[in-house]
Amino acid sequence: MGHLLVVEDVSKTYSSRRRLWGKAESVQALRSVSLSVKEGECLGIVGESGSGKSTLAKLILGLEKPDAGQIRFGDMDVHMASLLQIHAMRRHLQGVFQNSHDALNPRMRAGKIVTEPLRNYGRYKAAELCRRQEELLCSVGLSPEDGGKYPHQFSGGQQQRLNLARALALSPKLIVLDEVVSSQDPAIQVRLLELLDSLKTQYGLSYIFITHDIQAAAFLSDRLIVMDRGCIVEHTDHPRELNGLSHPASRQLLDALLPDPTMAARRRG
Ligand code: ADP
Ligand code: MG
Repeated sequence: MGHLLVVEDVSKTYSSRRRLWGKAESVQALRSVSLSVKEGECLGIVGESGSGKSTLAKLILGLEKPDAGQIRFGDMDVHMASLLQIHAMRRHLQGVFQNSHDALNPRMRAGKIVTEPLRNYGRYKAAELCRRQEELLCSVGLSPEDGGKYPHQFSGGQQQRLNLARALALSPKLIVLDEVVSSQDPAIQVRLLELLDSLKTQYGLSYIFITHDIQAAAFLSDRLIVMDRGCIVEHTDHPRELNGLSHPASRQLLDALLPDPTMAARRRG
C-alpha cells in the first residue's frame, strides 16, 4: 500500500524572544526528522514536553513552514502548494488538538459546529446538512438532541467528541491528533481512545497520534516513534511490547507510568 504522508529530513528552528541583554536565543525544535504514514494505520509519536511533537504537527498540517526538508501528502508538497491546493488538501488532512474547549465557538450550537466544515466546502441542501449533523453526532457517541446545545453544556470529554465529529465532517484520510486525550480523566481517556480506535476501523482512517503518554500511544498505534530534543531516537513496529524499547528517552517515558517505590524512597533519602 502506498504512503499517504511522507516527511523527509525536516528541520525547524525558532528564533525565540530576545532575552534581557538583547541576545536572540534560538531553539532547534526539529532536527532532520523523517517518517511516513500508510493508509489505514496509526503512527504514534511520543516524547517529553518540548521534544518537538507539536511543531511536527503544525508543519504536517501546513500551519508553519519547515526550514529544510519536504512534506508530501499524497502527491502534493505541503509547503509548495498554492492556497487553492491547500484548501483542497484540508478536506483530507485534519487536526485535533489538546484543548477541546478553546477550539469550540461558545456562541455556536453543537450541530452547527460539527457541520461547519461542510458549509465551508460545498453547497449542501438543508436536509442533507441535517442528516449529516445527526450522523456525525452519533458517530462520536453523542445524540441528535445534543445538536441543539452550546459547548459549555458538554463535559470535557464530550467537547473533545465534538472536535472529532467536526474533523470527520469532510471524510478525511488522515487526522493529526495532538494530545487529544491528555487533559481528560483516566476513565474518559480510555473511552476516547476506544472511540478513536473504532472510528479508524469504521472509516478506514489514518492517524498521527501525538502524546507524552506512551501507554495511550501504545494502545492506539500500529507503529510508534519516540522523539527527544527534536530528533527521532527510537521506533518500533510492535508498540504493544513497550519493554523492548531501550533508548533513555523511551525508558524515561515508561518510568513516568510506573513510579518505582524504591526509586521514590531513594530520592527521599
Ligand atoms: P512538544 O509538543 O513536544 O511539547 P513543541 O513542538 O511544542 O514540543 O516545542 C519544541 C521546542 O520548540 C520547545 O523548546 C519550545 O519551547 C519551542 N517552540 C515551540 N514553538 C515555538 C515558537 N513559536 N517560538 C519559539 N519557540 C518555540
Ligand atoms: Mg505539544
